[in-house]
Amino acid sequence: MTLAFLLVAAGRGTRAGGDVPKQWQPLAGRRVLDWTLAAIRQTPGLANTVLVLHPDDLSRAPDAPGLIVTTGGATRDASVRAGLDALEGTGTTRVLIHDVARPCLTQAVTARVIAALDTHPGAAPALPVTDALWRGADGLVSGTQDRTGLFRAQTPQGFHFEAIRAAHAAHPGGAADDVEVARAAGLDVAIVEGEEANLKITLPADFARAEALLTKAEEKDSKMDIRLGNGYDVHRFGPGDHVMLCGVRVPHGRGLQGHSDADVGMHAVTDAIYGALAQGDIGRHFPPSDPQWKGAESHIFLTHAVDLAAAQGYRIGNVDCTLVCERPKIGPHADAMQAAMATLLRVAPDRVSVKATTSERLGFTGREEGIAAIATATLVSA
Ligand code: MG
Repeated sequence: MTLAFLLVAAGRGTRAGGDVPKQWQPLAGRRVLDWTLAAIRQTPGLANTVLVLHPDDLSRAPDAPGLIVTTGGATRDASVRAGLDALEGTGTTRVLIHDVARPCLTQAVTARVIAALDTHPGAAPALPVTDALWRGADGLVSGTQDRTGLFRAQTPQGFHFEAIRAAHAAHPGGAADDVEVARAAGLDVAIVEGEEANLKITLPADFARAEALLTKAEEKDSKMDIRLGNGYDVHRFGPGDHVMLCGVRVPHGRGLQGHSDADVGMHAVTDAIYGALAQGDIGRHFPPSDPQWKGAESHIFLTHAVDLAAAQGYRIGNVDCTLVCERPKIGPHADAMQAAMATLLRVAPDRVSVKATTSERLGFTGREEGIAAIATATLVSA
């Protein structure tokens, strides 16, 4: 898939007030168009961005690397056609067409449109109408309108590139949006969930709403969320000829007993990550009562915790693990343990510490009845 965004910004709309078209008006310290462009250019996998401007506005075009700037026609349809033409020869297979007056677009909405294009030639965000609808005349309510099946359309509206190009070429003009053009050509358009925040600046009051939303989003971005978790685990020695510690098989005169492979260090690190996420511990996710985890390799648990962190928007900042035992000696294996753990944690080895201590022959570790491990993990909002 080669993805392009087409930003339609050739309109002269001044219903929003001001001396210049709304896309050039200031909003929270930048121009409306700059916000919208920034929002769409965050899209993962985006190959091309086309900006369609009015010929009078070419000198206002942002100096953004890789941006294709073209001029639009007298109508919205003509501007979209000009933008689609500008993508010819770029290998574009999917195109998202967006209104410049929707600067609060989020990645979530864009992602839903892109995903729906896997199964449909067109997809667009919308919100169901929830207010009661009236008809009115002369200041009086003249009737009501059933809202069942009614949606408020948003953008970006996404399409298979050649299909929407052909649809525009065949359309007589005057469509309200690209979904109308697509449907006229017989294309199915999937409805995906829009967002109330993805508002279209139309009236003067919309600037204040958009500014509040953008300022809030920026504050959220600037506040890095750091999570800290700890983990502690103990396994008892039993018969055997090796122990698994932090993913490394260490020859030893005894083994560690446990339901899984008893990798006490990896368990402590896994619990530290679950702890940082406030997601309990290994036992919650892999109950010891469940026979399928008997003898399980502990990387299954750690990988689950790392995946869970990623799913909740975190990456691993660093991990520090201390093994407490008299024997085996950890030093000769520490580098291999660091490397094995870094691979599973998907971070550079210098973000992983594996160290060891004895307990001065005191307590159960001192008597060599078992090995204990403590670990700390930081998670950083991705
Ligand atoms: Mg354990």
